[in-house]
Amino acid sequence: MQPTVPIDVDEESGIWRTDGLPMVYLPRHFLVNNHLAVEAALGREAYRDILRAATAKSAIEWCEAQVRGKGLDPEATFRHYFQRLSQRGWGQFSIDMLDTVGRRGSISLRNSIFALEAGQQPGQRVCYMFEGFVTGAFSFLLGIADPTAVACEETYCACDGQHDHCRFDFEAKL
Ligand SMILES: [Zn+2]
Repeated sequence: MQPTVPIDVDEESGIWRTDGLPMVYLPRHFLVNNHLAVEAALGREAYRDILRAATAKSAIEWCEAQVRGKGLDPEATFRHYFQRLSQRGWGQFSIDMLDTVGRRGSISLRNSIFALEAGQQPGQRVCYMFEGFVTGAFSFLLGIADPTAVACEETYCACDGQHDHCRFDFEAKL
């Protein structure tokens, strides 16, 4: 099967783009090795906080660009975000529950790049990078300016030896 996400390569510059956004195509082990090196240097909790802020910012920018480019409404944009992540090889995200009135939801993830690289690690949850993806996209959906107002945790991980997928639960704290 070929990619289901559109990829345009600029003949002159060699830059890859999807939906007008410059992209980088790289080996999974390259991304995960860099990730693990920073985690080892900073400690998981410090790195997790930094990542959460940075990835939430990127998720919000991505969603805002989609609204401008495609005219999607906020919920369609939220769903499109996880569809595009899935199409780009991060893993297969499914939005299992989305309650915009109760301001909470649940997402499952199969074949997460981090879980696949980690193998079996009983008791571990290694996909915390995605927590900021979720807090950013959900704060965008709810129109909350500050993504730290959304809590998200990887509740369990496919690497833990107990589950065949990862799960993320999230909730706006306001
Ligand atoms: Zn996981």
